[in-house]
Amino acid sequence: MKIELSNHAIESHRPPKASMDLFIPYEYLHEQEIQKNGVLKSVNTIFLTNKECPFKCTMCDLWRHTTDEPTPGGAIPSQIEYALNKLPEADVIKLYNSGNFFDGKAIPKSDYKAISNLIRNYQHVIVENHPKLVGSYIQEFKEMLIGTFEIAMGLETVHPDVLPKLNKQITTDLFRKSTRYINEVGVDVRAFILLNPPFLTDQAENIEWCLRSVEFAFDAGANACTIIPTRAGNGIMDKLETSGYYIPPTLTALEEVFEKALVLRAGRVFCDVWDLEKFSQCDICRDQRKERLIKMNLKQEILPAIECVCNR
Ligand code: SF4
Ligand SMILES: [Zn+2]
Repeated sequence: MKIELSNHAIESHRPPKASMDLFIPYEYLHEQEIQKNGVLKSVNTIFLTNKECPFKCTMCDLWRHTTDEPTPGGAIPSQIEYALNKLPEADVIKLYNSGNFFDGKAIPKSDYKAISNLIRNYQHVIVENHPKLVGSYIQEFKEMLIGTFEIAMGLETVHPDVLPKLNKQITTDLFRKSTRYINEVGVDVRAFILLNPPFLTDQAENIEWCLRSVEFAFDAGANACTIIPTRAGNGIMDKLETSGYYIPPTLTALEEVFEKALVLRAGRVFCDVWDLEKFSQCDICRDQRKERLIKMNLKQEILPAIECVCNR
């Protein structure tokens, strides 16, 4: 069966969006993360509510917590203030906006000054952004910050047949050029890499291409990679799953690729553990295995595997 992958077709499969308040971030959390110098630091992450990303990637479900209308001026600083009042102090701040920090309809440029003022006590600032949205505004925002700056970008996969089908509108070449530009203006890059993107349905090939993508990202100039197990649930992914174009990753595959990526020693590698329970079939070892991956994120080393009667 042929499945259409235009923006319109992808959107037509969507379940309804959540109803959002533009003056309250949809989530915020406090965690620890190892920095590029090997030091463990505390991190506050704020998931901002804003206008939906203009790209419509096949695997994306971030639109659920976004609005259709442009974000009004002042809303983002209010959200940051709201979250910071509830969060403990931290060294690093991540401002993740379910899209692109440098999309002016999501984060109005007129708010940059107020945002930078609110986060002036942070040593390091991380935002997420699309590789196409690269220009002098990155430097302008960086210059408003007291701390160092990092941009997280989705490379997703370097598989030549799969990347175009993700509808992300990027090439590996564009990712490389954007990373070089960002590095040249003194900003770090971390890459998001998918394990089991749609259209790659062999588990062994998925591990291989995920690892290749991590290698590519480091070679392009990223100094951290986050491996994200691809999930269904956004409508089109469920359709692709029932049509045989997507298989969910197993927890064993995630463990394997994470271990192999750590062995590269090419930069920090993180494994996204959100909703990881979905990928495990075993009630006995699930929590321990998740715990192990969390510890490996913090230590950046392979820890002894969890033995279980399920034999994985
Ligand atoms: S660019 Fe990012 S936020 Fe936008 S649709 Fe793609 S994955 Fe989602
Ligand atoms: Zn088990």
